[in-house]
Amino acid sequence: MNIEREVLPTDILIVGAGPAGLAVAYKLAQLVAADESLEMPEILLMEKGSHVGAHALSGAVMDPRGLAELMPDFLDQGAPLESPVAADAMYYLGREAAVKFPFTPSAINNHGNYIVSLNRLTAWMGEQVEAAGIDIFTGLAGYDLIVDAGKVTGVQTVDMGLDKEGHQKSNFEPGSIIEAKVTVLCEGVHGSLTRHAREKIPELTEGRLPQVYLTGVKEVWEVPAGRIKAGQVYHTIGWPQPSNEYGGGWIYAMSDTMVSVGYAVGVNSPDPTNDPHMKFQRYKTHPLLRRILEGGAMLHYGAKTIPDNGYYAIPKLYHDGLLLCGDSAGLLNPQKLKGIHLAIKSGIMAAETIVECLKKNDFSAAALSGYEKRFEQSWAREELYKTRNFHAGFKGGLFSGLFHGALQMVTGGRGLFDRRPTKPDHEHMCKLDDYGRQTGRLPEKETIKFDNKYTFDKLTDVYKSGTQHEEEQPAHLVIRDYDICNNRCTEEYGNPCQHFCPAQVYEMVDDPEREGKLRLQLTPSNCVHCKTCDIADPYQVIRWVVPQGGEGPNYENM
Ligand code: SF4
Repeated sequence: MNIEREVLPTDILIVGAGPAGLAVAYKLAQLVAADESLEMPEILLMEKGSHVGAHALSGAVMDPRGLAELMPDFLDQGAPLESPVAADAMYYLGREAAVKFPFTPSAINNHGNYIVSLNRLTAWMGEQVEAAGIDIFTGLAGYDLIVDAGKVTGVQTVDMGLDKEGHQKSNFEPGSIIEAKVTVLCEGVHGSLTRHAREKIPELTEGRLPQVYLTGVKEVWEVPAGRIKAGQVYHTIGWPQPSNEYGGGWIYAMSDTMVSVGYAVGVNSPDPTNDPHMKFQRYKTHPLLRRILEGGAMLHYGAKTIPDNGYYAIPKLYHDGLLLCGDSAGLLNPQKLKGIHLAIKSGIMAAETIVECLKKNDFSAAALSGYEKRFEQSWAREELYKTRNFHAGFKGGLFSGLFHGALQMVTGGRGLFDRRPTKPDHEHMCKLDDYGRQTGRLPEKETIKFDNKYTFDKLTDVYKSGTQHEEEQPAHLVIRDYDICNNRCTEEYGNPCQHFCPAQVYEMVDDPEREGKLRLQLTPSNCVHCKTCDIADPYQVIRWVVPQGGEGPNYENM
């Protein structure tokens, strides 16, 4: 069906009001205001969440380097930082035991960093951007990246008011075409437009290692006084993650009575029953955590993926009419599991490059390549280069990873193997029959009964994420071939989507038309937009596309 779409021209289109997108906008406003030769360009900053910060989630301990460069007076301006880091500890966990490392290696020491709630921080950054004269269009979701004759020319926004079958309802509003001289993708992890960019412009990823991911699952708890002190940071490795899989946990004291607790699990798990939410709930039953959380109340829940392959997986950062920033470019230090400072720094460098382009009125790839040159000369590149082999070092499991990590620290990141090849995450999953043979283990099984006081099922947690989607719209999880799900996947993998999704979107239910058989049933309204399914599905038949703007999680204090 041909739909007439409004065309909205602008100069600069920024997609995503997270730390990277907000940094682009803020820095641009500053640079243009300070340069008399320039007039303020038209800037459209769009955000798919209902408000700035609604979809922002991180651990988070923030290295302030990026924010200090963007806003040197961020402390005086009242940036909402929960607490400076006061003490750092690393533990190796067994089922009951917790062995404290005698020291925290300097490379992962958090001295000088701050515990933050990313969604509070981005909401505040959004206020600073608006005070600098740039409007943020919230509830506006990008559906397609428009690439015309090899050049990125803008974004088509999502249609609103379609029913489940895709028919127009009485409130139908067609998506618009936003045409821009440059589109800056700051969508966060595994964004759908960034995926379009990778597919439509293959040279972006040519010669790069594939990106690999973790799924992070998190709750914020109010705990009784006396359990922990503001600023205490605990990281754990070991239980409940098997030693052949990648991941670990954290406990951050946002205040004396508020903690962020979470667990991050490699999406490259060979176990087809890998369930990050279940692992997190089991994690909380460890005595180290119970001592802190028992008697408290869980307030908020969320989940997201984390890009973890570091320097060698960073795509080409520019193209004709396009820049990639923050998590959209995989800018995350895998050793520290930190990316907020890198996202902000990338936003600053993107803004500096755009100002040069404005002066020449040239947004070609050649002109925008200044962004990648800036990156290659920056402290961000230096930091990422030093950790370039970190994730790949864990190929042989936890203990070999610790060995390689130590070696990389004393060799400037090189270690024994430089640029070790990695496979996409979904290629690591074993078929049910092969898992035992290849790993010598049985697939993980649910071993705890949720009490809904201390451990929670997925639906209770989703409720605490504030997630909302209108039911009557096309499913935003698009299944390319249900036959694969209902037959081949059931037999070969046991439908891993019902395990790896942390929001119970995927369920296998009795098929009324095939006695004794199961069929896949989706509940897209539960989706917390973590993107795990799009990454982990072994047949790659699941595609996450944006739902209507303004929907999804409404994170608070996350
Ligand atoms: Fe995450 Fe996919 Fe589940 Fe949504 S449906 S919560 S994106 S795994």
